[in-house]
Amino acid sequence: MRKKVTVVGAGNVGANCALRIAGKELADVVLVDVIEGVPQGKGLDILQSGPVEGYDVNITGANDYGPTANSDIVVITAGFPRKPGMSRDDLLLANYEVVKSATEQAVKHSPNSILILVTNPLDAMCWTAYQIAKFSKNRVIGMAGILDTARFRTFIAQELDVSVENVTAMVLGGHGDTMVPMARLASVSGIPLIELLDQAAIDRLVQRARDGGAEIVKYLKTGSAYYAPSAAATEMVESILKDKKKILPCAAYLEGEYGIRDLFVGVPVKLGSRGIEKIYQIKLDQSEQAALQKSAASVKELIDVIKPKMG
Ligand code: NAD
Repeated sequence: MRKKVTVVGAGNVGANCALRIAGKELADVVLVDVIEGVPQGKGLDILQSGPVEGYDVNITGANDYGPTANSDIVVITAGFPRKPGMSRDDLLLANYEVVKSATEQAVKHSPNSILILVTNPLDAMCWTAYQIAKFSKNRVIGMAGILDTARFRTFIAQELDVSVENVTAMVLGGHGDTMVPMARLASVSGIPLIELLDQAAIDRLVQRARDGGAEIVKYLKTGSAYYAPSAAATEMVESILKDKKKILPCAAYLEGEYGIRDLFVGVPVKLGSRGIEKIYQIKLDQSEQAALQKSAASVKELIDVIKPKMG
């Protein structure tokens, strides 16, 4: 039987997720949105690309969760994106309500699903969904690190004029201004990045990766990035549905790993059919550990705001 993925939020990220999941024939897709007609219309449009592109999956749209029943994965992209001058954290209270209601409904209809969160501020929205869903921690996962890493990899490849496929990198921490691009672990076809670029150049690329989302918001003016974000979420869906066991940086619930407790923070995880199958703890040097702690502290500040609302 074909797998089933629900994408909540048929906006820019959600619709592109649906398109990519269909394009890779990973699963049937149900798009859900509060705006009447939009998920139905976009769903039909994506379905009608099938004959041209050559994919045989079903894509439907709905304004309620009935059609989402028994999904294997629910990707939550519903909520407001930021506009120029806003940080992701500015979205906290508005998107808390959206993610809370989306999670309640989604898990009621798909109690055995795996949740992938995309809505910002990402790490706090993962925490919200985890509290509401009451799923085991391996089944609530946040998308951010793959995107932040993709940006870092892109800038490294551009700087060195090499294929992006040769560049591997890792970004840890919260999905915000304090994220921790791990330059020490980046490599190009196995050659350590630190042997290829001087520190000033590396620092410049690290900063551009940190500001990668804001750079696009500044251009778009009315919203935030969606092509690379939807590609990143689809990579997670694929690794889970195909049990590929890819090691990817994702937001995971930590219970003491890296000295962090009761927070979602970006760390390397193995993604397979059970969701997060392993959290990898890499040895960090002093400054990396300090940067990660600082990033976790900024995630905690947001949790402290929403915790009282959870009752
Ligand atoms: P968008 O405005 O294009 O789409 C959001 C959609 O959510 C809209 O269609 C809206 O009607 C819908 N929606 C609102 N409330 C809903 C609800 N209760 N139930 C169902 N649908 C609802 O925005 P976008 O560009 O697709 O971004 C979506 C979210 O993803 C934003 O919060 C953005 O910040 C976040 N994002 C995160 C990352 C990341 O790396 N984690 C990357 C890009 C975007």
